[in-house]
Amino acid sequence: MSKLRCPCGHTIVDQRDNIPYKASYRKDKDLESYMSVADEIADFQKAIETGEREEWIKKYFSEDYLGIHPSNLEVIRDVISGWDFQYRGEMFQCEKCGRIAIEKDNSNVFSFFKPDDNDSNGIFDIS
Ligand SMILES: [Zn+2]
Repeated sequence: MSKLRCPCGHTIVDQRDNIPYKASYRKDKDLESYMSVADEIADFQKAIETGEREEWIKKYFSEDYLGIHPSNLEVIRDVISGWDFQYRGEMFQCEKCGRIAIEKDNSNVFSFFKPDDNDSNGIFDIS
């Protein structure tokens, strides 16, 4: 999503990192599947220990990916990033009206929910 039109008329823009009105979520029912990314990382670690690192990377990603000579840390980050993408949905809060837009099933289709109070603006920017 790069732009999303809120029912209030405001345009929600998603064109950079660290957006204070953006968040992501994972469905609770997907937690066990999501956490199995640890199995993928353990498998990669085993491949390193048995001298099969390059074969593992080619099989998991591609020969082209291996060609960029990723460090072990980069490989692990890319495994987690790809895994996260499968399970992550995006949410945005309209800065004008406070509505929350929630992505349905990683589909780039959003449903809007309007808060009952006026104190909810900036809900994704609270530290
Ligand atoms: Zn709005």
